[in-house]
Amino acid sequence: MRRVSVFGSTGSIGVNTLDLLVRAQGEFQVVVLTGGRNVDLLASQARELRAEVAVTAYDDALPALRAALHGSGVEAAAGTAALIEAAERPADWVMSAIVGAAGLAPGFAALRHGTTLALANKESLVAAGPLLLAEARRHGARILPVDSEHSAVFQALTGERIEEVERVIITASGGPFRDWTLAQLERATLAEASTHPNWAMGQRITIDSASMFNKAMELIETREFFGIAPEKIDTVVHPESLVHALVGFQDGALMAHLGAPDMRHAIGYALNWPARRDLPVARLDLAAIGRLTFQAPDPVRFPALRLAREVMAIGGSAGAVFNAAKEVALDGFIAGRIGFMDMGRLVESVLSDMSSRQGLGTAPASLDNVLATDAEARALGRERISTGRI
Ligand code: NDP
Repeated sequence: MRRVSVFGSTGSIGVNTLDLLVRAQGEFQVVVLTGGRNVDLLASQARELRAEVAVTAYDDALPALRAALHGSGVEAAAGTAALIEAAERPADWVMSAIVGAAGLAPGFAALRHGTTLALANKESLVAAGPLLLAEARRHGARILPVDSEHSAVFQALTGERIEEVERVIITASGGPFRDWTLAQLERATLAEASTHPNWAMGQRITIDSASMFNKAMELIETREFFGIAPEKIDTVVHPESLVHALVGFQDGALMAHLGAPDMRHAIGYALNWPARRDLPVARLDLAAIGRLTFQAPDPVRFPALRLAREVMAIGGSAGAVFNAAKEVALDGFIAGRIGFMDMGRLVESVLSDMSSRQGLGTAPASLDNVLATDAEARALGRERISTGRI
Protein backbone atom coordinates (compact mmCIF):
# COMPACT_ATOMS: atom_id res chain seq x y z
CA MET A 1 0.00 0.00 0.00
CA ARG A 2 1.37 3.47 -0.85
CA ARG A 3 1.99 5.75 2.09
CA VAL A 4 0.77 9.31 1.44
CA SER A 5 0.76 12.56 3.40
CA VAL A 6 -1.20 15.73 2.72
CA PHE A 7 0.17 19.05 3.96
CA GLY A 8 -2.61 21.64 3.95
CA SER A 9 -5.35 18.98 3.98
CA THR A 10 -7.98 21.43 5.27
CA GLY A 11 -7.57 23.78 2.30
CA SER A 12 -9.08 23.71 -1.16
CA ILE A 13 -6.33 21.56 -2.72
CA GLY A 14 -6.19 19.41 0.41
CA VAL A 15 -9.92 18.67 0.38
CA ASN A 16 -9.78 17.76 -3.32
CA THR A 17 -6.80 15.49 -2.66
CA LEU A 18 -8.63 13.71 0.15
CA ASP A 19 -11.66 13.28 -2.09
CA LEU A 20 -9.48 11.21 -4.45
CA LEU A 21 -7.91 9.28 -1.58
CA VAL A 22 -11.32 8.40 -0.10
CA ARG A 23 -12.48 7.13 -3.50
CA ALA A 24 -9.39 4.89 -3.66
CA GLN A 25 -9.58 3.67 -0.08
CA GLY A 26 -7.63 0.50 0.45
CA GLU A 27 -4.87 1.62 -1.93
CA PHE A 28 -3.35 4.28 0.30
CA GLN A 29 -2.22 4.47 3.89
CA VAL A 30 -2.53 8.09 5.06
CA VAL A 31 0.46 9.04 7.19
CA VAL A 32 0.21 12.77 7.91
CA LEU A 33 -2.55 15.36 7.54
CA THR A 34 -1.89 19.00 8.41
CA GLY A 35 -3.95 22.14 8.77
CA GLY A 36 -3.93 25.53 10.40
CA ARG A 37 -6.91 27.00 12.24
CA ASN A 38 -9.56 24.59 10.97
CA VAL A 39 -8.93 22.01 13.68
CA ASP A 40 -12.39 20.40 13.55
CA LEU A 41 -12.07 19.63 9.87
CA LEU A 42 -8.50 18.36 10.36
CA ALA A 43 -9.62 16.02 13.13
CA SER A 44 -12.58 14.66 11.18
CA GLN A 45 -10.35 14.07 8.11
CA ALA A 46 -7.77 12.29 10.27
CA ARG A 47 -10.46 10.07 11.82
CA GLU A 48 -12.05 9.23 8.47
CA LEU A 49 -8.76 8.41 6.75
CA ARG A 50 -7.19 6.81 9.83
CA ALA A 51 -4.12 9.03 9.58
CA GLU A 52 -1.13 8.27 11.78
CA VAL A 53 -0.72 11.90 12.85
CA ALA A 54 -2.56 15.21 12.48
CA VAL A 55 -0.58 18.44 12.80
CA THR A 56 -1.86 21.98 13.19
CA ALA A 57 0.57 24.77 12.35
CA TYR A 58 -0.44 26.69 15.47
CA ASP A 59 0.71 25.75 18.99
CA ASP A 60 -2.34 27.35 20.59
CA ALA A 61 -4.63 25.09 18.54
CA LEU A 62 -3.12 21.89 19.96
CA PRO A 63 -5.51 21.46 22.94
CA ALA A 64 -8.52 21.71 20.61
CA LEU A 65 -6.96 19.24 18.17
CA ARG A 66 -6.16 16.80 20.98
CA ALA A 67 -9.72 17.04 22.27
CA ALA A 68 -11.18 16.50 18.81
CA LEU A 69 -8.99 13.42 18.26
CA HIS A 70 -9.60 11.92 21.70
CA GLY A 71 -10.06 8.15 21.50
CA SER A 72 -9.28 8.00 17.76
CA GLY A 73 -5.73 6.65 18.03
CA VAL A 74 -4.49 9.50 15.80
CA GLU A 75 -1.49 11.37 17.22
CA ALA A 76 -1.83 15.16 17.52
CA ALA A 77 1.01 17.66 17.14
CA ALA A 78 1.45 21.39 16.58
CA GLY A 79 3.91 24.01 15.39
CA THR A 80 6.51 24.54 12.71
CA ALA A 81 8.96 21.95 14.05
CA ALA A 82 6.17 19.36 14.20
CA LEU A 83 5.29 20.08 10.56
CA ILE A 84 8.89 19.44 9.53
CA GLU A 85 9.10 16.28 11.64
CA ALA A 86 5.88 15.08 10.07
CA ALA A 87 7.35 15.69 6.59
CA GLU A 88 10.25 13.44 7.55
CA ARG A 89 7.99 10.46 8.29
CA PRO A 90 8.49 7.77 5.65
CA ALA A 91 6.00 8.29 2.82
CA ASP A 92 5.93 7.51 -0.89
CA TRP A 93 3.99 10.61 -1.92
CA VAL A 94 3.52 13.97 -0.21
CA MET A 95 1.09 16.66 -1.30
CA SER A 96 2.50 20.14 -0.62
CA ALA A 97 -0.64 22.31 -0.34
CA ILE A 98 0.04 24.66 2.53
CA VAL A 99 -0.60 28.21 1.35
CA GLY A 100 2.26 30.72 1.36
CA ALA A 101 5.94 30.60 2.31
CA ALA A 102 5.00 28.42 5.31
CA GLY A 103 4.89 25.55 2.81
CA LEU A 104 8.60 25.75 1.93
CA ALA A 105 10.27 23.99 4.86
CA PRO A 106 7.99 20.90 4.97
CA GLY A 107 8.48 20.43 1.20
CA PHE A 108 12.26 20.56 1.54
CA ALA A 109 12.09 18.10 4.46
CA ALA A 110 10.03 15.62 2.40
CA LEU A 111 12.51 15.83 -0.50
CA ARG A 112 15.43 15.15 1.83
CA HIS A 113 13.85 11.77 2.46
CA GLY A 114 13.56 10.98 -1.22
CA THR A 115 9.76 11.29 -1.22
CA THR A 116 7.83 12.20 -4.37
CA LEU A 117 6.53 15.72 -3.83
CA ALA A 118 3.28 16.74 -5.51
CA LEU A 119 3.77 20.48 -5.55
CA ALA A 120 0.75 22.77 -5.33
CA ASN A 121 2.58 25.29 -3.12
CA LYS A 122 3.75 27.59 -5.91
CA GLU A 123 5.55 29.82 -3.41
CA SER A 124 8.23 27.10 -3.08
CA LEU A 125 9.23 27.44 -6.72
CA VAL A 126 8.91 31.22 -6.87
CA ALA A 127 10.94 31.87 -3.72
CA ALA A 128 13.39 28.98 -3.86
CA GLY A 129 13.06 27.17 -7.21
CA PRO A 130 16.74 26.29 -7.92
CA LEU A 131 17.33 25.16 -4.32
CA LEU A 132 14.21 23.01 -4.31
CA LEU A 133 15.14 21.30 -7.58
CA ALA A 134 18.72 20.79 -6.37
CA GLU A 135 17.42 19.21 -3.15
CA ALA A 136 15.28 16.82 -5.17
CA ARG A 137 18.24 15.87 -7.40
CA ARG A 138 20.53 15.37 -4.42
CA HIS A 139 18.16 12.91 -2.77
CA GLY A 140 16.82 11.21 -5.90
CA ALA A 141 13.35 12.61 -5.19
CA ARG A 142 10.81 13.62 -7.80
CA ILE A 143 8.69 16.76 -7.93
CA LEU A 144 5.40 16.58 -9.82
CA PRO A 145 3.59 19.85 -10.59
CA VAL A 146 0.02 20.24 -9.35
CA ASP A 147 -0.74 23.77 -10.50
CA SER A 148 -3.10 23.04 -13.42
CA GLU A 149 -1.05 25.05 -15.93
CA HIS A 150 2.20 23.33 -15.01
CA SER A 151 0.59 19.92 -14.91
CA ALA A 152 -0.65 20.73 -18.43
CA VAL A 153 2.85 21.75 -19.61
CA PHE A 154 4.33 18.66 -17.95
CA GLN A 155 1.83 16.44 -19.78
CA ALA A 156 2.43 18.19 -23.13
CA LEU A 157 6.19 17.69 -22.67
CA THR A 158 5.96 13.98 -21.99
CA GLY A 159 8.14 12.19 -24.54
CA GLU A 160 9.40 15.50 -25.96
CA ARG A 161 12.84 17.13 -25.84
CA ILE A 162 13.03 20.35 -23.88
CA GLU A 163 15.62 21.75 -26.38
CA GLU A 164 12.96 21.54 -29.11
CA VAL A 165 10.49 23.71 -27.21
CA GLU A 166 10.00 27.09 -28.88
CA ARG A 167 7.49 28.55 -26.44
CA VAL A 168 5.21 27.81 -23.54
CA ILE A 169 1.91 29.62 -23.19
CA ILE A 170 0.02 29.46 -19.94
CA THR A 171 -3.56 30.62 -19.96
CA ALA A 172 -5.24 33.02 -17.54
CA SER A 173 -8.99 33.30 -17.05
CA GLY A 174 -8.54 37.04 -16.51
CA GLY A 175 -10.43 36.65 -13.21
CA PRO A 176 -13.50 38.66 -12.21
CA PHE A 177 -11.92 41.99 -13.27
CA ARG A 178 -10.91 41.01 -16.79
CA ASP A 179 -12.82 43.88 -18.41
CA TRP A 180 -12.70 46.41 -15.60
CA THR A 181 -11.20 49.86 -16.15
CA LEU A 182 -8.28 51.14 -14.09
CA ALA A 183 -10.64 53.45 -12.20
CA GLN A 184 -12.90 50.50 -11.31
CA LEU A 185 -9.90 48.38 -10.27
CA GLU A 186 -8.76 51.10 -7.85
CA ARG A 187 -12.11 50.73 -6.04
CA ALA A 188 -12.39 46.89 -6.20
CA THR A 189 -13.59 45.43 -2.90
CA LEU A 190 -12.49 42.31 -1.05
CA ALA A 191 -15.82 40.58 -1.76
CA GLU A 192 -15.53 41.33 -5.49
CA ALA A 193 -11.93 40.09 -5.63
CA SER A 194 -12.76 36.91 -3.69
CA THR A 195 -15.08 35.46 -6.33
CA HIS A 196 -13.58 33.57 -9.25
CA PRO A 197 -15.68 33.10 -12.40
CA ASN A 198 -14.49 29.51 -13.12
CA TRP A 199 -12.39 27.96 -10.35
CA ALA A 200 -13.30 27.21 -6.71
CA MET A 201 -10.07 27.85 -4.76
CA GLY A 202 -8.79 29.21 -1.45
CA GLN A 203 -9.36 32.92 -0.82
CA ARG A 204 -5.73 33.98 -1.23
CA ILE A 205 -5.17 32.42 -4.66
CA THR A 206 -8.60 33.68 -5.76
CA ILE A 207 -7.60 37.28 -5.01
CA ASP A 208 -4.23 36.64 -6.67
CA SER A 209 -6.14 35.54 -9.75
CA ALA A 210 -8.13 38.78 -9.75
CA SER A 211 -4.90 40.84 -9.62
CA MET A 212 -3.07 38.40 -11.93
CA PHE A 213 -0.39 37.97 -9.29
CA ASN A 214 -1.28 34.30 -9.54
CA LYS A 215 -0.37 34.30 -13.23
CA ALA A 216 2.79 36.27 -12.45
CA MET A 217 3.76 33.54 -9.96
CA GLU A 218 3.04 30.93 -12.61
CA LEU A 219 5.30 32.61 -15.18
CA ILE A 220 8.14 32.37 -12.65
CA GLU A 221 7.16 28.78 -11.73
CA THR A 222 7.34 27.82 -15.42
CA ARG A 223 10.78 29.35 -15.70
CA GLU A 224 12.01 27.54 -12.59
CA PHE A 225 10.39 24.15 -12.96
CA PHE A 226 11.00 23.54 -16.67
CA GLY A 227 14.15 25.67 -17.03
CA ILE A 228 12.64 27.55 -19.96
CA ALA A 229 14.03 31.02 -20.83
CA PRO A 230 11.67 33.86 -19.81
CA GLU A 231 11.38 35.15 -23.38
CA LYS A 232 9.90 31.80 -24.42
CA ILE A 233 7.16 31.94 -21.78
CA ASP A 234 3.99 33.82 -22.41
CA THR A 235 0.48 34.11 -21.06
CA VAL A 236 -2.80 34.58 -22.87
CA VAL A 237 -6.21 35.42 -21.42
CA HIS A 238 -8.69 32.61 -22.04
CA PRO A 239 -11.94 33.34 -20.18
CA GLU A 240 -13.37 29.81 -20.52
CA SER A 241 -10.47 28.22 -18.50
CA LEU A 242 -10.66 25.03 -20.57
CA VAL A 243 -7.23 25.19 -22.24
CA HIS A 244 -4.76 25.22 -19.35
CA ALA A 245 -1.48 25.60 -21.22
CA LEU A 246 0.09 25.15 -24.65
CA VAL A 247 3.58 24.08 -25.64
CA GLY A 248 4.95 25.17 -29.02
CA PHE A 249 7.75 23.21 -30.71
CA GLN A 250 10.39 24.13 -33.30
CA ASP A 251 8.34 22.64 -36.11
CA GLY A 252 5.45 25.01 -35.37
CA ALA A 253 3.28 22.39 -33.65
CA LEU A 254 1.33 23.68 -30.67
CA MET A 255 0.19 21.07 -28.14
CA ALA A 256 -2.72 22.23 -25.99
CA HIS A 257 -3.96 20.62 -22.81
CA LEU A 258 -7.72 20.90 -22.29
CA GLY A 259 -9.87 19.85 -19.39
CA ALA A 260 -12.66 20.98 -17.09
CA PRO A 261 -11.61 23.54 -14.47
CA ASP A 262 -11.38 20.97 -11.68
CA MET A 263 -8.17 20.61 -9.65
CA ARG A 264 -8.82 16.92 -9.16
CA HIS A 265 -7.45 16.38 -12.66
CA ALA A 266 -3.97 17.78 -11.90
CA ILE A 267 -3.97 16.29 -8.39
CA GLY A 268 -5.06 12.88 -9.71
CA TYR A 269 -2.47 13.01 -12.48
CA ALA A 270 0.27 13.61 -9.89
CA LEU A 271 -1.18 10.91 -7.61
CA ASN A 272 -1.32 8.23 -10.32
CA TRP A 273 1.71 9.28 -12.40
CA PRO A 274 3.07 7.76 -14.59
CA ALA A 275 -0.24 5.90 -14.98
CA ARG A 276 -3.53 7.53 -15.92
CA ARG A 277 -6.58 6.40 -13.98
CA ASP A 278 -10.27 7.20 -14.17
CA LEU A 279 -10.91 10.51 -12.39
CA PRO A 280 -14.24 11.99 -11.28
CA VAL A 281 -13.92 15.08 -13.50
CA ALA A 282 -16.36 16.31 -16.13
CA ARG A 283 -15.58 15.37 -19.74
CA LEU A 284 -15.66 18.28 -22.19
CA ASP A 285 -18.39 18.34 -24.83
CA LEU A 286 -16.64 20.44 -27.47
CA ALA A 287 -19.69 20.88 -29.70
CA ALA A 288 -21.70 22.15 -26.72
CA ILE A 289 -18.87 24.52 -25.78
CA GLY A 290 -18.84 25.81 -29.37
CA ARG A 291 -15.95 28.25 -29.19
CA LEU A 292 -12.85 29.04 -27.22
CA THR A 293 -11.63 32.63 -27.03
CA PHE A 294 -8.22 34.18 -26.37
CA GLN A 295 -6.98 37.72 -25.86
CA ALA A 296 -3.73 39.45 -24.95
CA PRO A 297 -3.33 40.38 -21.25
CA ASP A 298 -3.15 44.07 -20.34
CA PRO A 299 0.09 44.83 -18.45
CA VAL A 300 -1.14 48.29 -17.45
CA ARG A 301 -4.25 47.15 -15.60
CA PHE A 302 -2.41 44.05 -14.37
CA PRO A 303 1.14 45.20 -13.46
CA ALA A 304 1.91 41.87 -11.75
CA LEU A 305 2.83 40.40 -15.15
CA ARG A 306 5.44 43.11 -15.78
CA LEU A 307 6.82 42.62 -12.27
CA ALA A 308 7.21 38.87 -12.91
CA ARG A 309 9.36 39.71 -15.95
CA GLU A 310 11.53 41.96 -13.76
CA VAL A 311 11.89 39.20 -11.18
CA MET A 312 12.96 36.69 -13.83
CA ALA A 313 15.47 39.20 -15.26
CA ILE A 314 17.04 39.84 -11.82
CA GLY A 315 17.03 36.16 -10.76
CA GLY A 316 18.72 35.17 -7.48
CA SER A 317 16.61 36.16 -4.48
CA ALA A 318 14.20 38.39 -6.40
CA GLY A 319 11.56 35.64 -6.39
CA ALA A 320 11.69 35.41 -2.58
CA VAL A 321 11.26 39.18 -2.32
CA PHE A 322 8.42 39.16 -4.84
CA ASN A 323 6.57 36.37 -3.04
CA ALA A 324 7.00 37.87 0.43
CA ALA A 325 5.98 41.36 -0.68
CA LYS A 326 2.98 39.90 -2.49
CA GLU A 327 1.90 37.99 0.64
CA VAL A 328 2.18 41.16 2.77
CA ALA A 329 0.28 43.16 0.15
CA LEU A 330 -2.44 40.51 0.11
CA ASP A 331 -2.68 40.57 3.93
CA GLY A 332 -2.98 44.38 3.71
CA PHE A 333 -5.76 44.19 1.12
CA ILE A 334 -7.65 41.48 3.04
CA ALA A 335 -7.39 43.57 6.23
CA GLY A 336 -8.73 46.63 4.38
CA ARG A 337 -5.50 48.59 4.92
CA ILE A 338 -4.62 49.06 1.25
CA GLY A 339 -6.58 49.17 -1.99
CA PHE A 340 -6.63 46.56 -4.75
CA MET A 341 -4.17 48.37 -7.05
CA ASP A 342 -1.93 49.24 -4.09
CA MET A 343 -0.91 45.58 -4.00
CA GLY A 344 1.06 45.98 -7.24
CA ARG A 345 2.50 49.31 -6.09
CA LEU A 346 3.67 47.81 -2.81
CA VAL A 347 5.33 44.81 -4.43
CA GLU A 348 7.06 47.10 -6.93
CA SER A 349 8.37 49.43 -4.22
CA VAL A 350 9.66 46.59 -2.02
CA LEU A 351 11.33 45.01 -5.04
CA SER A 352 12.91 48.34 -5.94
CA ASP A 353 14.08 48.94 -2.30
CA MET A 354 15.70 45.55 -2.19
CA SER A 355 17.13 45.73 -5.73
CA SER A 356 19.24 48.68 -4.72
CA ARG A 357 21.00 46.43 -2.21
CA GLN A 358 23.90 44.33 -3.28
CA GLY A 359 23.47 40.70 -4.10
CA LEU A 360 19.75 40.45 -4.89
CA GLY A 361 20.63 38.76 -8.19
CA THR A 362 22.94 36.25 -6.52
CA ALA A 363 21.50 32.78 -6.03
CA PRO A 364 20.71 32.09 -2.35
CA ALA A 365 22.94 29.37 -0.89
CA SER A 366 20.39 27.80 1.42
CA LEU A 367 16.77 27.71 2.50
CA ASP A 368 17.78 29.78 5.54
CA ASN A 369 19.04 32.53 3.20
CA VAL A 370 15.71 32.45 1.36
CA LEU A 371 13.77 32.69 4.63
CA ALA A 372 15.98 35.61 5.78
CA THR A 373 15.29 37.49 2.53
CA ASP A 374 11.60 36.64 2.91
CA ALA A 375 11.59 38.10 6.45
CA GLU A 376 13.39 41.26 5.32
CA ALA A 377 10.99 41.85 2.43
CA ARG A 378 7.98 41.27 4.72
CA ALA A 379 9.31 43.77 7.27
CA LEU A 380 9.86 46.37 4.53
CA GLY A 381 6.38 45.78 3.11
CA ARG A 382 4.71 46.02 6.52
CA GLU A 383 6.63 49.17 7.33
CA ARG A 384 5.52 50.75 4.07
CA ILE A 385 1.89 49.86 4.79
CA SER A 386 1.97 51.20 8.34
CA THR A 387 3.64 54.48 7.29
CA GLY A 388 1.42 54.82 4.21
CA ARG A 389 4.48 54.90 1.87
CA ILE A 390 3.14 52.57 -0.75
P1 NDP B 1 -6.33 27.29 1.18
O1 NDP B 1 -6.22 28.63 1.76
O2 NDP B 1 -7.64 26.77 0.77
O3 NDP B 1 -5.66 26.20 2.17
C1 NDP B 1 -4.39 26.42 2.70
C2 NDP B 1 -3.99 25.31 3.64
O4 NDP B 1 -2.81 25.72 4.35
C3 NDP B 1 -5.01 25.00 4.72
O5 NDP B 1 -4.88 23.66 5.10
C4 NDP B 1 -4.58 25.92 5.86
O6 NDP B 1 -5.07 25.51 7.11
C5 NDP B 1 -3.08 25.77 5.76
N1 NDP B 1 -2.35 26.89 6.33
C6 NDP B 1 -2.68 28.20 6.30
N2 NDP B 1 -1.71 28.94 6.88
C7 NDP B 1 -0.76 28.06 7.28
C8 NDP B 1 0.49 28.22 7.98
N3 NDP B 1 0.96 29.42 8.35
N4 NDP B 1 1.22 27.12 8.24
C9 NDP B 1 0.77 25.88 7.87
N5 NDP B 1 -0.41 25.68 7.25
C10 NDP B 1 -1.16 26.76 6.94
O7 NDP B 1 -5.30 27.26 -0.06
P2 NDP B 1 -5.41 26.47 -1.43
O8 NDP B 1 -5.72 25.04 -1.18
O9 NDP B 1 -6.23 27.25 -2.39
O10 NDP B 1 -3.90 26.59 -1.96
C11 NDP B 1 -2.85 25.85 -1.38
C12 NDP B 1 -1.60 26.04 -2.23
O11 NDP B 1 -1.84 25.49 -3.52
C13 NDP B 1 -1.24 27.51 -2.46
O12 NDP B 1 0.16 27.62 -2.56
C14 NDP B 1 -1.87 27.83 -3.81
O13 NDP B 1 -1.20 28.86 -4.49
C15 NDP B 1 -1.67 26.50 -4.53
N6 NDP B 1 -2.64 26.23 -5.59
C16 NDP B 1 -3.97 26.21 -5.31
C17 NDP B 1 -4.89 25.95 -6.31
C18 NDP B 1 -6.36 25.85 -6.03
O14 NDP B 1 -7.13 25.50 -6.91
N7 NDP B 1 -6.81 26.11 -4.83
C19 NDP B 1 -4.45 25.75 -7.71
C20 NDP B 1 -3.02 25.72 -7.86
C21 NDP B 1 -2.15 25.97 -6.84
P3 NDP B 1 -6.48 26.06 7.74
O15 NDP B 1 -7.41 26.29 6.61
O16 NDP B 1 -6.87 24.91 8.65
O17 NDP B 1 -6.14 27.30 8.50
